[in-house]
Amino acid sequence: MKWEITFNGITYRCINCAYCCSCEGWRIYLNYFDVLKLKDYKDCIERCEGEFKYRLKINERGCVLLNNNLCRVHLEKGYEFKPLMCKIFPFSSMVKWDGTPLLIIKHYCGGICKGETDKKVIKEVIKYIKELYFDNFEEIIENGMEHS
Ligand code: SF4
Ligand code: SF4
Repeated sequence: MKWEITFNGITYRCINCAYCCSCEGWRIYLNYFDVLKLKDYKDCIERCEGEFKYRLKINERGCVLLNNNLCRVHLEKGYEFKPLMCKIFPFSSMVKWDGTPLLIIKHYCGGICKGETDKKVIKEVIKYIKELYFDNFEEIIENGMEHS
C-alpha cells in the first residue's frame, strides 16, 4: 500500500522542546504492546474509554513521565520503549477518499522547518502507525477515519 506524503518541502527535526509532552489537551494513548513495554511504569498508566483502553497519566506539567523536560522512558530504557504515539508525533495519518493512506504533519510542533527530514524517519513513522493500529489498520483504511 503506497502512502501519500502531504508535506513535501516542509522539513522537520526534533528540537527537544517537550511541547508535545506537555501541551494542553494532548494525551498519549497506549495500545497493548505499549502497555507491555511500560510494565515498569504501571503507576503512570490509567484506564480510559474509547478506541484505546489505556493512556498515560498527566499532571500540571503534562505527561507524568516528563522530568526536567526529558522523557524518563527514553532516559531509563531507551527510545524503543517509548509509546508509539510519542514516536509518531509530529506525524499523523488520515485516509483519502480513494483509500490512500496520507501521512500528515502537525504544524504546531517546534521542530517544523528545522533541519532536514530524514527519509528513514518517514519510513519508521509509517511502521509505527501500523503498529499502533495493528489489529484494525485495514478497517481504518476502509472507513477513512482521521487518527493521531
Ligand atoms: S513538539 Fe516537536 S520539536 Fe518539540 S519535542 Fe515534540 S516532536 Fe520534538
Ligand atoms: S512518554 Fe515520554 S515522550 Fe511520551 S509524552 Fe511522556 S515524556 Fe513525552
